[in-house]
Amino acid sequence: MKNLKPGNYVIWVLALLVIPLSLLSVGGGKGHHDMSPAMIYLNMVIALLAYSTFTLSFVLCARIKWLEHYFGGLDKMYQMHHKMALVAFILLLSHPFLLAIRWIPNNFVRFLLSIFPLHRRLEVNLGSYALWGIILLMLFTLVIKLPYRTWKISHKFMGLFLIVALLHTFILISFSDNPLLWIYLCFISGLGVGAFLYQTVFFGIFNSGYSYKVDAIERVNERIMTIEFSPVGKKLHFSSGQFCFFNFCYPGISKESHPYTLFPTGNGNSVQIMVKALGDYTNVLHRTLKLGAKVLLRGPYGSFDFREGKKDQVWIAGGVGIAPFISWIKDLQQRPFPDLNAELYYCVHQGDDAIYTNEMKSFEEDFKGFHLNLICTAVDGKLKIKDIPDLENKDIFLCGPQTMTRSFIKNFKEMGISPHLVHYENFDFR
Ligand SMILES: Cc1cc2nc3c(=O)[nH]c(=O)nc-3n(C[C@H](O)[C@H](O)[C@H](O)COP(=O)(O)OP(=O)(O)OC[C@H]3O[C@@H](n4cnc5c(N)ncnc54)[C@H](O)[C@@H]3O)c2cc1C
Repeated sequence: MKNLKPGNYVIWVLALLVIPLSLLSVGGGKGHHDMSPAMIYLNMVIALLAYSTFTLSFVLCARIKWLEHYFGGLDKMYQMHHKMALVAFILLLSHPFLLAIRWIPNNFVRFLLSIFPLHRRLEVNLGSYALWGIILLMLFTLVIKLPYRTWKISHKFMGLFLIVALLHTFILISFSDNPLLWIYLCFISGLGVGAFLYQTVFFGIFNSGYSYKVDAIERVNERIMTIEFSPVGKKLHFSSGQFCFFNFCYPGISKESHPYTLFPTGNGNSVQIMVKALGDYTNVLHRTLKLGAKVLLRGPYGSFDFREGKKDQVWIAGGVGIAPFISWIKDLQQRPFPDLNAELYYCVHQGDDAIYTNEMKSFEEDFKGFHLNLICTAVDGKLKIKDIPDLENKDIFLCGPQTMTRSFIKNFKEMGISPHLVHYENFDFR
């Protein structure tokens, strides 16, 4: 919900700064003699705004640890990345369309041809190449929905089209045209290209990570296992509910990194995670992982923290979204939160899917400020937000499948609950 953080304002202000700066070029713009000055200016603003939002969207998905604090967590940065990239895409589509529309209705063929890279000038064709490349990659993202791993590889090509768009922009706009705008464009281009290179080339160099090894593996049920790790070198410090990216280094397990929520353990040095077999990677992990396997942890990330809430809280978990709540319970066993009154609604499809219930029940007996409500949707039906008593005055913490999170957030809005009381974590960066 709208837990607006300064990062959100700053990034949009930075992107919109292009509008007043491009005003300085009014009257001096190069354009088409058959377009009105207003149209030339409008088109330039749209093109530059498309470029600024597209470039800055790279900063939001580069996993820059110190930045996430200003956005309310890495998942929120990814959310903002999606919004900004979508705005950029719509503006990018409008830019050639506004240029081509002058051929309508007299010359429809010319209208069509001008949208493709068939121009005489290389700099114009560069823009067209970037546009068609981005359209293709956005089709993979929004329409075709490739498997995550293939999609991730395809999405890296966005960086290539950023460079092509950059060339297009800088050949068309020179320092002498509008020095302030040119300096601004250099600045945001540096941020965008820098973020892209950081994410794809230098991430491993700047984030050597923490080496751990697998000490214990426990199968909780058919699809869920817990894994305990101890440090091989330096120890990772984290708060309960935070997560790390894990790269296993073990024969048969892909080297790709996946995020998992960290649990504190009784032993101060080790950490634990819970992994649900959901797809290719996690199924292989379930079948293949053995004791002693090495793993590299990068992070910690995330700012989903019940300690930031008031004493009266409602926790809502769906499926694997129980992970941060388990982490908090383990934390509370070691470090109490005075007067906490937390009602946990744990939604699963059927009873067998629920994990850690015995531990939660025994925690409920020891700690009177915690109460577990297990909702098996196959038997009880879906949790109805309106049935939760006194919701309006409590801090609400929510983690689960995206559809559940979205629908509950909509309910909270309808009930007039302040967005500042709603805290959630997305388990999906796509
Ligand atoms: C912040 C966060 C914390 C998480 N904590 C846990 C946890 O404690 N326990 C747990 O079981 N699961 C957790 N997950 C989910 C877990 O990372 C994915 O379920 C897992 O990576 C799926 O991989 P897969 O290839 O087996 O499944 P797929 O079927 O390939 O993927 C299922 C979905 O998971 C997401 N996903 C896949 N790979 C990645 C990746 N490398 N990075 C980000 N998202 C990916 C995609 O949205 C994809 O659609 C967490 C996710 C996030 C974002």
